[in-house]
Amino acid sequence: MSINHIRPWRHIERRKSRQIHVGNVPVGGDAPIAVQTMTNTPTTDVAATVAQVQAAAEAGADIVRVSVPDEASSRALKEIVRESPVPIVADIHFHYKRGIEAAEAGAACLRINPGNIGDEKRVAEVIRAAKDHNCSIRIGVNAGSLEKHLLEKYGEPCPEAMVESGLDHIRILQDHDFNEFKISVKASDVFMSAAAYQQLAEATDAPIHLGITEAGGFVSGTIKSAIGLGQLLWMGIGDTLRVSLSADPVEEVKVGFEILKSLGLRHRGVNIISCPSCARQGFDVIKTVEALEKRLEHVKTPMSLSIIGCVVNGPGEALMTDVGFTGGGAGSGMVYLAGKASHKMSNAQMVDHIVEEVEKKAAQLDAETAAAE
Ligand code: SF4
Repeated sequence: MSINHIRPWRHIERRKSRQIHVGNVPVGGDAPIAVQTMTNTPTTDVAATVAQVQAAAEAGADIVRVSVPDEASSRALKEIVRESPVPIVADIHFHYKRGIEAAEAGAACLRINPGNIGDEKRVAEVIRAAKDHNCSIRIGVNAGSLEKHLLEKYGEPCPEAMVESGLDHIRILQDHDFNEFKISVKASDVFMSAAAYQQLAEATDAPIHLGITEAGGFVSGTIKSAIGLGQLLWMGIGDTLRVSLSADPVEEVKVGFEILKSLGLRHRGVNIISCPSCARQGFDVIKTVEALEKRLEHVKTPMSLSIIGCVVNGPGEALMTDVGFTGGGAGSGMVYLAGKASHKMSNAQMVDHIVEEVEKKAAQLDAETAAAE
């Protein structure tokens, strides 16, 4: 029985979308919500771009997008695709020919912007290339680059204009018998984005790529994305997402996962439950959590760890976690395993010890999963 049946207030009913594939990653339907990011190195610098793709993949990215602004980037893309552990999406603006080249170079998906890709004839050529090379397409509508006729019709960027732009392009793709597409309607304004996505979700069964564009720096962008994407995900909308931050792509991936983990939509790695600490703390909670976050980055098994400063909340939180530590007196605290008090440990040795306990538990959970398969 899943935890959602025991606790129905945790249940999110996902919108039923059609499933497509981006390379070997299913998107939509009952597939896990895929986390994406985008490289910010020059695409022509293959080594730097591949290193960034690998770091993002290591942090959990399922799909990575790479910008293809010129012909040299299309050539570099071929090598990047070959070296990448995850499917690569080619980001295409202005030049439809880059879309064709990217499909030839092995991109798993082409992101095209209806506002700047050109007329239907050009889109048709990109569609043909996508078909020939087994590529999917993302229709990436952006409030900041809407078609001129829509801006004239609506007066300014608004949810209705964004959805109309997206649906117009869906029609073009479908008229050319192309159905391997997903769609996004991003805006930097949380309200506009959320309203556009809600309208879009009603209007199509295509898989939806979520994002708040140009969300800002690490802290402000994370908050904006958590509010905007969080609300939509909670409503069941969204099959893949990117958190856009003016920060390292690895941070985008981490934030994306944290949003999904907070809503119980995906689980990866150690979910650390820790208290904010106060004068009652039996050890330095903040420094300890910082150290553990770093030391446990390599653990991919979904599991929980509670690090609580004192007995006010420690035993209660430990009840619901795989491994727990609660501060006590005289420089030591209590280690909890599977919710039960297990043994005492000195504060000085606690970080090393908790890392060992978490690794042991992860190995046990992995073995159980393997045996069940
Ligand atoms: S659990 Fe204890 S140390 Fe942590 S914030 Fe609460 S009272 Fe303070």
